[in-house]
Amino acid sequence: MKLCMIGTGYVGLVSGVCFSDLGNDVICVDRDFKKIENLKKGIVPIYEPGLDELVLKNYQNNRLKFSTDLKDSISKSDIIFICVGTPAKKNGEGADLSQIFSVAKEIRSSIFKFKIIITKSTVPVTTGDEIEKIISQKVSKKLFSIVSNPEFLREGEAIRDFTYPDRIVIGTNDKKSNKILKNLYSPLISKGAKYVNSSRRSAELIKYAANAFLATKITFINELANLTEKLDVNIEDISIGMGLDKRIGGRFLRAGPAYGGSCFPKDTKAIVNTADKFGTNLSVIKSVIKSNENRSSLLLQRVFNILKSKVKNKKICFLGVTFKANTDDMRDSSCLKMIPFLVKKGALINYYDPTGEKNELKKLKKVSFSKNISSAIKYSDLIIIHTEWNDFKSINFKKLIQNKKFKIFDMRNIYSSTKMKEQKIKYFSIGS
Ligand code: NAD
Repeated sequence: MKLCMIGTGYVGLVSGVCFSDLGNDVICVDRDFKKIENLKKGIVPIYEPGLDELVLKNYQNNRLKFSTDLKDSISKSDIIFICVGTPAKKNGEGADLSQIFSVAKEIRSSIFKFKIIITKSTVPVTTGDEIEKIISQKVSKKLFSIVSNPEFLREGEAIRDFTYPDRIVIGTNDKKSNKILKNLYSPLISKGAKYVNSSRRSAELIKYAANAFLATKITFINELANLTEKLDVNIEDISIGMGLDKRIGGRFLRAGPAYGGSCFPKDTKAIVNTADKFGTNLSVIKSVIKSNENRSSLLLQRVFNILKSKVKNKKICFLGVTFKANTDDMRDSSCLKMIPFLVKKGALINYYDPTGEKNELKKLKKVSFSKNISSAIKYSDLIIIHTEWNDFKSINFKKLIQNKKFKIFDMRNIYSSTKMKEQKIKYFSIGS
């Protein structure tokens, strides 16, 4: 099939590349000229395990193309996926849909034969109705069908998630579009993915409901960790004991820093905003948002306690600064709250991240980047393990750190406190 992905970010690039790997002809379009030029040279703009190889393979096979020419790409395609950003509005009230609506206005002048137009971007319920209205101002409704097909991939596991999804949600009442899309996804359905055909509005809401629920699970276990810390109980035991109940499940039930990333923070706010507009109070999700916003302050308080309130001139090393492991994405990472605060209190911050130095931290004074773990931690008073990269799981701290009084605050509970005690290392974890 001939596909066009509009927006070549995490979602557009990963799904475009994977669709081409399934044998389709895919054009990935972006308005970012430099991004497209780089992709043509094989330079992939994001860190995603396995993506570089897959881009190269399919680009060389000629099944995958990159372009900045939207009109030309649409005229050559039968199925158009809108994968542009839907960030939170600056005033915090819901999703900013300006990229979506501007794409809808751009594509309507290039539709001369039947096209399926799909929102893969996460959009609030009823956005599909709006897109249909915009396009039908210039194009006969017989020539297009607007479908919602939300994407559930996770950064860091994106290729696996795309190739082996739990489910594929197709929101449309149009039988012809449903048949074509079932066919497009048939290689994944035959590997076990469940195919869910719902109304367009349902599909839009399924995505927000799923993200809000996962954010709630994380926040739930984070709050329980605050309690277990006071009870001499280990939160890891609680996670295991709860998670083995099949009705609950163990995933997204690990205590740690506040949830971040490009999805949960904005999507929880957007669903609350939608509900408010329709006169419904989603009080559970509202308190999840509040609790998560407070999480970084709580963890900073623990840092102060660990350092006995003597933060000034203390050398603090962050291992990992992205919002989670296996991604280079800094969007809404809790580090962006914690590091500036500690700098303000006089701490000297050094950090190492496997995905390199971060622009977001470059402008901060007294924050430096180290190129490897050993130089990052060498002179530290406190090491904060902020993400759970495999690279951080077997560090010989005693050998590498010169200051023998160093302390560790493991925000991902990747080390055993018993083993740390045996080595006489001052070790602090979450929820115990
Ligand atoms: P992103 O910011 O990484 O990429 C969006 C891309 O769209 C950018 O490259 C931008 O230049 C391009 N773009 C914007 N307007 C354009 C236009 N008019 N023409 C061509 N290109 C244009 O965003 P993302 O992380 O890929 O997210 C995209 C959507 O998918 C969002 O709605 C997000 O919520 C959703 N989503 C993201 C993830 C994730 O893990 N990142 C997972 C599931 C769903």
